[in-house]
Formats: sequence, structure tokens, C-alpha cells
Amino acid sequence: MTNLIERLASIVGGRYVLRGDHADAEPYISEARGDYRSTPLAVVLPGSTDEVSGVVRACVDAGAAIVPQGGNTGLCGGAVAREGEVTVVLKRLDRVREVDTLNGTMVVEAGCILADVQSAARDAGRFFPLSLGAEGSCMIGGNLATNAGGINVLRYGNSRQQVLGLEVVLGDGRVWHGLNPLYKNNTGYDLKQLFIGAEGTLGIITAASVKIYPYPVRSRTILLGFSRLGACLELLSLAREESGDQLSSFELIPDIAMRAAAEHVEGCANPLADAHPWYILCQFATSSKVIPLDEMAEAFLERAYEAGLLSDAIVTASEAQERSLWRIREAIVAAQRMAGRSVSHDVSVPVSRVPELIERVTAALERVAPGVRPYPFGHIGDGNVHCNLLQPLDMNEASFVASKPLLRKTVYDIVLALGGSFSAEHGVGLLKRELMEAHKSPEELSLMRAVRAAIDPGGLLNPGKVV
Ligand SMILES: Cc1cc2nc3c(=O)[nH]c(=O)nc-3n(C[C@H](O)[C@H](O)[C@H](O)COP(=O)(O)OP(=O)(O)OC[C@H]3O[C@@H](n4cnc5c(N)ncnc54)[C@H](O)[C@@H]3O)c2cc1C
Repeated sequence: MTNLIERLASIVGGRYVLRGDHADAEPYISEARGDYRSTPLAVVLPGSTDEVSGVVRACVDAGAAIVPQGGNTGLCGGAVAREGEVTVVLKRLDRVREVDTLNGTMVVEAGCILADVQSAARDAGRFFPLSLGAEGSCMIGGNLATNAGGINVLRYGNSRQQVLGLEVVLGDGRVWHGLNPLYKNNTGYDLKQLFIGAEGTLGIITAASVKIYPYPVRSRTILLGFSRLGACLELLSLAREESGDQLSSFELIPDIAMRAAAEHVEGCANPLADAHPWYILCQFATSSKVIPLDEMAEAFLERAYEAGLLSDAIVTASEAQERSLWRIREAIVAAQRMAGRSVSHDVSVPVSRVPELIERVTAALERVAPGVRPYPFGHIGDGNVHCNLLQPLDMNEASFVASKPLLRKTVYDIVLALGGSFSAEHGVGLLKRELMEAHKSPEELSLMRAVRAAIDPGGLLNPGKVV
């Protein structure tokens, strides 16, 4: 394998090849949550598509498996390479190749940090809508490889819907130059969609042609406090109607998370006068200067109060106020970690069944794991709940860790009974492979394996992940 490392160094330059056991490789060999960690043979940082292609050819010749990595913010173990494998980090492919406002597209390289993609669009007066908590460090290649969701899916769709074309290095080193900027292109199979959400098992995305939109220059964020969980569905429906479908986000926050944010993260106190069992943080946004957002927000709140759905609400009047409300939404993720050990479930159900999911999980936990504290939050406007569970206050860590399989089964059984998915937006990676085997139909699994075998017959791209 010394030969492989030397060959990799000759392709990308010695300083961009790190041995897996070297201290400098540390940021690339484990996932932030600490659940996955191993020592790959090498970590390689190519600087161009040609170099990625060269790296893949070298690995194929040496029979070494290849694990693509972006910002390493994934939460399913997909970007962690095992012993003997080579991690290919895309971060040096970080150019915005083109912004075309008239065509409504931009071409970005895989290693662009998501926040930088958003800024490049904004600098051109346009909007790139993909937005998530890790946007300061995750990369667009990783976002597409995991088909990331986030807070704007309700209005703009998930990553899959943002892509018009891709450039991909295949498992034998060939490059598929599929970076077309066409909004319509019905010429056979839509190959790009295979690579999106494939978590690096079919090819290495090196660049993407993505859609950009008019910039929503005006917005109002509304925080709603209410007591009956089921009311969230009627509130969603009213918000869509009264906003003329200008609703971009609709996020659920339970009181336990609101309290945790206030307690553990500075500047995140609940801005409503009283506590409520449930909160929704939603946003009306528009690129138009004449759409009357304030009147829309007022009409929405009036109907919600009249229907007895709401206990309290505030509407932001400035950008600073908006930022402070969204800070609370971001803080609830960090606050969860600070509130104790937890087990996370990124799941989705039909939107109309979100309250039932949370109520059934809460009731089931009271039976099978009394004391476990449900911490369900997330993008419920598109049916996605982070159905997370906190360690009981009086339970020790070892007992909680031992109870995790039962907790997972409890949640996933209910999700599946409601016609939902065991992975809404984080993907499968290593974490949910067993669930794939257990819950996907034999037909679906065999089609996925056939696709994988056809596109990467050598089987060296991210082996052991997804299927
Ligand atoms: C605080 C926090 C909040 C988050 N919020 C959300 C959220 O709201 N919505 C959401 O969907 N996710 C969320 N995530 C999960 C994560 O940020 C996303 O999955 C993100 O899209 C991963 O991007 P990355 O660049 O970090 O990819 P990585 O973690 O590096 O890789 C993820 C997977 O993609 C593959 N991959 C990476 N780059 C490429 C490439 N160029 N070509 C082919 N395969 C590649 C890897 O092999 C791996 O399987 C959150 C994570 C954190 C830590």
C-alpha cells in the first residue's frame, strides 16, 4: 500500500495525502457525534475533477475502496472510511464556476460550503434555498449526496429538486460531464437523480448545476404558542392559505426544547410571555416589494385565534428580531445535547399524521420506557419530525445506552405503521443499513443492488453503506 500512497501523492501533491494514522487526518476520520471512527489507509485532498479521476484510478488499480467526504457533518456514518480504505475529501474543489441570473442557474463545485453557495447567489441578487443547521460547514456535494432537506423544503423542495445537472467521477475514474443547465430535458433516464441521495455509493459528485430563485427580500417570521398538538395541522393549512402560499418554513418546537434552549444557550429565552406546550416557528417570505406580508400575517393570526387554535403569537418587525427567533430554532439542537444523552430519529410521515406520530410515540414510551423524555421537533410542514428522546433524569448512562434498541424499535414501528419513512433527510449510511434490509421490499432492494452493480461494477465506491 506504500505504492498507492506514493501514487496518490504524485497525483495531488504530497501535502494533500495524509496517512490515516497521522494527527492531521483527525478531522476526517470520525463523525462529530463520535458514533463512527476508524483509521483509513489515507485521506486524500484532490484539487480538481481530473485529480479526483486520477485518485479513483489509482485506488482501483490498488483494489482500495474509496469513501467520498464533504464537510463531514453527516449523521449516519456515510463519510467514515474503514481500515484499508481511502477517504477522498472534496473541500479543495470550492469554486463557483458560474452564476447565470437570466437562466436561473449556478454551477458550483462539490467542495463549496453551503453558506458560500447561498452567499454567491445572494451577491447576484438571487436565492439558493437549501438551508440547514450545518450550513457553515457542510458542502454542496455532501448535500446532494445525502439529498439534504432543511427548513425551506416546504416551498422549494429538497436537494433533489434543486439540481439540473451534475459532473461525476465514476467508479472506474471516467468523468460523466452531465452539467447541463436545462430546466427541461426529456432524453431518456434521468441519470443525475441516481447520484443524488446515493451517499457516494455510485460516483463522486465534483460539480453541480443548480437552480437559483428571486431573492426573498422581505419576510415575516411568526412564533405561535398553542396547547393542542393537533392544531398544528390547521395552523399549517391556514398559514398556506392566508400567505398566498408564500410560506417557506413551518417548524415545530416542543416546550421541553424551548426550555432547554433558554437554559443552555445564551440569548435564547422564550420571547412569549408564558410557556405553552407547543410552538410553531413559521416564515412568510417574498421577493416582491408590493405583497402585503403584514396584512397576510394579521389575517392568518385573526383566523387562527377565531378558530381557537392559538394561545399567543408574535410577528417579527425587524431583521434583528427574525434572527433572534431563528437562533432559538438552531439552539434547540445544541440544547438537546446539553440536556443529557439522547437517541435521535430523523423520520417522516404524511403531514396529516404528524400529531398522531408524536402522540403515539409518547404513549408507547410511557409503557415501555417510563421517564424517557420525548424531544420531537422539526420541519413538520413537510412531515419530517426529529423524533428524539432524552435520557430519563434518574437513569444512569449505561442503562440508557442499553435501552436504545428498544427505543429505536418503538419509534420505527410506529413510523412504519403510519406509512412513514425511517430516514427523512439524513440518509442511511451505516446507521440505518439494517433498517433497509428489514423494511424495504425484496423488489426494491434487488433493484437498488442491480443499479449499484451496473454503475459501479468494481464495488469500490463507499462499500458497506446504504445497501
Ligand atoms: C447541526 C446539524 C444540523 C443538520 N441539519 C440538517 C437538516 O436540517 N437537514 C438535513 O438534511 N441534514 C441535516 N444535517 C445533516 C448533514 O448536515 C447533511 O446530511 C449534509 O448534507 C451533509 O453534508 P456534508 O458535506 O457534511 O457531507 P458528509 O458528511 O461529508 O458526507 C455525507 C455522505 O455523502 C457522501 N458524499 C459527500 N460528498 C460527496 C460527493 N462530493 N460525492 C459523492 N458523495 C459524497 C459521503 O460519502 C457520505 O456518505 C445536519 C447536521 C448537523 C451536524
